[in-house]
Amino acid sequence: MAHQVAYISDDADVLPRPPGALPGDEFRETCTQCGDCSAVCTAKAITLDDDGFPVLSALALCQDCGLCADICTRGAIAFAAVTWSGLQDMLAAEKDCIWI
Ligand code: SF4
Ligand code: SF4
Repeated sequence: MAHQVAYISDDADVLPRPPGALPGDEFRETCTQCGDCSAVCTAKAITLDDDGFPVLSALALCQDCGLCADICTRGAIAFAAVTWSGLQDMLAAEKDCIWI
């Protein structure tokens, strides 16, 4: 699946935010720097910058799973179409698993 980075920070020197993140200053004003999105990212694609804001530091690792959007209660990361679809696919796959 091709990764879509629709929301790049205003600052060209700053790494992209996670997929679906609010743009620029709006993101920094909304994010509480709780780190939950980084913690939930099983792909280890998100790290925190020097100010504690999440950055998509390993773009190639992102699976568009949507977990970062799902856990962000502040709405700093919203679902994009690709991450919403990714989450639905993951949930469907889990539903099909047989737990023993
Ligand atoms: S989960 Fe949301 S509020 Fe917390 S660090 Fe990530 S983007 Fe910011
Ligand atoms: S969409 Fe999934 S893999 Fe990509 S940054 Fe968010 S939690 Fe990590």
